[in-house]
Amino acid sequence: METIVESTEYLSDEAATLAFAQRFAATVESPCSVALIGDLGAGKTTFVRGVLRALGVTGAIKSPTYALVESYDTTKGEVHHLDAYRIESVDDFEARGGFEYFESPSIRFVEWPERLQGAVSFDWELRFDFENEGRRVTISPVAPGGGGDTRVASSSGGEEDGGLQSDSDSNSQRHPLPNPLPSRERGPNQ
Ligand code: ADP
Ligand code: MG
Repeated sequence: METIVESTEYLSDEAATLAFAQRFAATVESPCSVALIGDLGAGKTTFVRGVLRALGVTGAIKSPTYALVESYDTTKGEVHHLDAYRIESVDDFEARGGFEYFESPSIRFVEWPERLQGAVSFDWELRFDFENEGRRVTISPVAPGGGGDTRVASSSGGEEDGGLQSDSDSNSQRHPLPNPLPSRERGPNQ
């Protein structure tokens, strides 16, 4: 049985989001595809900026809302930060080369993954919700095949063998991310 469970953490301010991003960066391994879900202003871009800083990126970090993707060389290899908010359709995403970022091993963060309608599958889903003055992040592994009509399998390095399954990487890569969150749901005193 799958032992990794959904977990959640309250992020009281931007600094907390950045600290969470730093912990995530310490555990994520390439190849990995991460869906970032949440309304405008929920902190998706802030989170990615925190990850990139933790992975040694010192230059400008721009939101990819207009460019579709910003790519970075990091201490864990290539990281692609995509934002599908402004794509017109999955075909538009394809025409703009969006799928190419999933074809060789890298770490990909995708804002507005809903716009891809399951054409890309993910290893992890991070959801950011507004809560009081801060945000709540919920992290969950995506079930194999959870990407639906998968055109590009998650984390694919080209060694596809599983048809529509999202976990075409070796099993050891399926969940390369030890849970970076304290597992509050397992008890209050851990
Ligand atoms: P998104 O990419 O989801 O649209 P942004 O990261 O661009 O959101 O913007 C998030 C805004 O919320 C920024 O102004 C940031 O300073 C702020 N923010 C980020 N994390 C938190 C938090 N945990 N609590 C309160 N404000 C936050
Ligand atoms: Mg954003």
